[in-house]
Amino acid sequence: MVNNQPPVSDDLYPLSLERFHKVADRLDLDPGIREKLAVVKREVTVNFPVKMDDGQFKVFTGFRVQHDIARGPAKGGIRYHPSVCLEEVRALAMLMTWKCAVVNIPFGGAKGGVKCDPKAMSEGEIERLTRRYTSEIIMLIGPETDIPAPDMYTDSKIMGWIMDTYSMQKGFSVPGVVTGKPLSIGGSLGRSGATGRGCVNCISLAAEHLGIDLEGRTVSVQGFGKVGAVAARLLDEMGCKIIAASDSKGGIFSQKGIDVADLLRHKGESGSVVGFHDTDNISSTDVLEIPCDILIPAALEDQIWEGNADKIQAKIIAEGANGPTTSKADDILSDKGIFVIPDILANAGGVIVSYFEWVQNIQEYFWPEKRINSELQRILSDSFWKVLEISKKEKMSMKMAAYSLAVDRVVQATKDRGIYP
Ligand code: NAD
Repeated sequence: MVNNQPPVSDDLYPLSLERFHKVADRLDLDPGIREKLAVVKREVTVNFPVKMDDGQFKVFTGFRVQHDIARGPAKGGIRYHPSVCLEEVRALAMLMTWKCAVVNIPFGGAKGGVKCDPKAMSEGEIERLTRRYTSEIIMLIGPETDIPAPDMYTDSKIMGWIMDTYSMQKGFSVPGVVTGKPLSIGGSLGRSGATGRGCVNCISLAAEHLGIDLEGRTVSVQGFGKVGAVAARLLDEMGCKIIAASDSKGGIFSQKGIDVADLLRHKGESGSVVGFHDTDNISSTDVLEIPCDILIPAALEDQIWEGNADKIQAKIIAEGANGPTTSKADDILSDKGIFVIPDILANAGGVIVSYFEWVQNIQEYFWPEKRINSELQRILSDSFWKVLEISKKEKMSMKMAAYSLAVDRVVQATKDRGIYP
């Protein structure tokens, strides 16, 4: 039976578990290891006051969750959004475990978030919230234990405040506690655009595999933010035609193509893609259903679900967002023959360059941007062809192949370490 309501953020954890158990069944996982990986290792909920600009205190709720650390320190972003809840953060922490494993970087998975509406807060309020939240989770984070990064509605400035708050508590500078920082305090060249760049690297590899020339191919992007806008800009530079884009305020469409550089300027000035010249206004869900060659869902989770998956008309979907497709929708897209580049691969560019940033911080030696972009390309290319090989050999979708490879690597690490004591 088709559910006629799209999933909400509370559904994300059960949906992630559903996907994990599907993979665990295929891998015939040992029941004990299955049980271990189906739960998160550690989770902390913090309720803390922040002084608002009007002089009143407001209490906020934040979370930090570590799913698994068999392969290395926990790694994962921090999100500020009104819908943040423990279930969502657990699901995203689990996703980080699989993402780091599929691209074979030495991290486990974590995620954090604060339930708040950053758009309705001043910069001072966001800074005080960030510093207090950092203090509340300080027992968990650190360059050897758990390294946060930006996610939705958090950016390099916020990462700078986290680094400073942590360093103040330690009494010396600790740049490796967080990635996605400003360059002046140990950020990495290439980090800010890394997720969008990685997404485009994966699209190029998919096009090579499918024998598609990218010149003139049409692209639709849901979520014109840090991931979606960079991917749109790079694809535009490569000769693709961006025909639709959206953000939280709505979407725009032009069959003739959108001037991406001008759209970036318009979004910067007006705060939204809506109202851009020579385009028609459409809804954010229309952006998903528009006929196009390449669709990039780069906004929220669960945007493609059993209620709309059948209406998707793209040839390639590159999942820029984390978990934009539900498990049931995965099957529908697979039956339709759409080539889906799974989230844990398509948006891994950010965590890969975060890994480079962490390595540079620990070594106190910085790389040129050319090296960063070429190492990013190398890691994604190795991972893409490996996932494709599994997908062909095991006759499974790219999504199932990517998750199988990831889970298998985490299981191997768990077995090789053994269970303590
Ligand atoms: P962002 O805040 O920069 O951008 C998000 C964009 O989505 C904004 O333009 C926002 O207006 C838009 N949006 C919000 N709700 C929407 C809706 N209902 N419909 C359409 N658009 C909507 O965030 P981001 O960093 O680009 O993250 C986007 C997604 O990518 C998230 O799922 C995030 O977890 C994932 N991701 C981000 C990174 C990274 O490095 N930034 C890395 C991996 C995954």
